[in-house]
Amino acid sequence: MHCKCCDAMLTDFEATRRNANTFEFVDLCNECFAEVKHIVPVIERKDLMKPEDFELEGAEDEYIEDIEDIKEFINYKYL
Ligand SMILES: [Zn+2]
Repeated sequence: MHCKCCDAMLTDFEATRRNANTFEFVDLCNECFAEVKHIVPVIERKDLMKPEDFELEGAEDEYIEDIEDIKEFINYKYL
């Protein structure tokens, strides 16, 4: 899976990011997504995030602590 915008290879985290309204995959790398994140509501698989993803999110430790909660939420709601 490649970024729709710049054709970079997507990580698992980037490839599973979905539009929260349409449930379609966004298919953008973190860099390109950063340009539109303020206008596109998304569902992200935080459990697939890697350290490089956290950096681009601009938040670090709090996400890591929430991962188990988010996993439970995702399993409950979408699986
Ligand atoms: Zn890109």
